[in-house]
Amino acid sequence: PEALLEVRNLKKYFPIQSGLLNRTVGHVKAVDDLSFTIRKGETFGLVGESGSGKSTVGRSIVRLTEKTSGDVLFKGTDIYSLPKDELRQLRPALQLIFQDPYSSLNPRVRVGDAIGEALIDHQLADTSEIRSKVLEVLELCGLSDYHIDRLPHEFSGGQRQRIGIARALALNPELIIADEPVSALDVSIQAQIINLFRKLQETNGLSYLFISHDLSVVEHLCTRIGVMYLGSMVETGSREDLFLRPQHPYTKALLSAVPIPIPKLKRERIVLSGDIPSPANPPSGCKFHTRCPYATERCKEEVPALRTIGTDHLVACHLV
Ligand code: SF4
Ligand code: MG
Repeated sequence: PEALLEVRNLKKYFPIQSGLLNRTVGHVKAVDDLSFTIRKGETFGLVGESGSGKSTVGRSIVRLTEKTSGDVLFKGTDIYSLPKDELRQLRPALQLIFQDPYSSLNPRVRVGDAIGEALIDHQLADTSEIRSKVLEVLELCGLSDYHIDRLPHEFSGGQRQRIGIARALALNPELIIADEPVSALDVSIQAQIINLFRKLQETNGLSYLFISHDLSVVEHLCTRIGVMYLGSMVETGSREDLFLRPQHPYTKALLSAVPIPIPKLKRERIVLSGDIPSPANPPSGCKFHTRCPYATERCKEEVPALRTIGTDHLVACHLV
């Protein structure tokens, strides 16, 4: 399948300013030379601990935050080269869904109106057909006529996420970037929302970039997975590669932390100690060396390149 989204050598550095004159004294390297591709129809899971830069990747793709360098290509078009009006035309195709949809819903606007406004903003419906279009996406998301005139506070967390998804869906997106969309929900509700994402993929031909700190969530939904550590990709591969043949010690450590029953897999357990170091002052060489049980002198000095070790399976570790 063709590439829908290509992220090439993306960097996002936030300046750290200090003193009266706001002198730049350093940079938080939130995303540091990251590359990956999402093909049409695919669900790409981006995982890593909080602080690994995952959200910044999502925000940089849709230009909610501007990249420092690198390229973001959507169907071959460089998103960053587009003038404002063309970027606006492209916006509906790329939708971002957040962890807490409540924060992006106006508490005084009825949910039907919120979705309807998005349709009008992007000239995707005439006034006469708005209500039926709104109802159509609400129903696709498991809501009904009963919900259309209600205010956001009248909904549970799971229902609010359904509204967030319905609003994104109303714009006929091709790629949905979902940033921790189920992290705030109870486990039973998580499964319902994940099933909804999966259903919509089939009915609406969607592709997803699914951002999560939780590998067990990604396991149910994603066809390919990328593991991020301190702004860099340490391993990418198919779901099978990552869960059955993980190669990077950090991937193995993340897997050790989740109780996923996988028959036949004798998994090597790596227990992560300490917190992720600050992206303002990342370790030299392999950024994981301060927490890696296999680190050698070489790891402290030399940055491991992301290398292909199998079809579509890439790993950045000197040991592999
Ligand atoms: Fe560990 Fe060295 Fe591999 Fe980094 S390069 S993951 S420190 S063994
Ligand atoms: Mg985040």
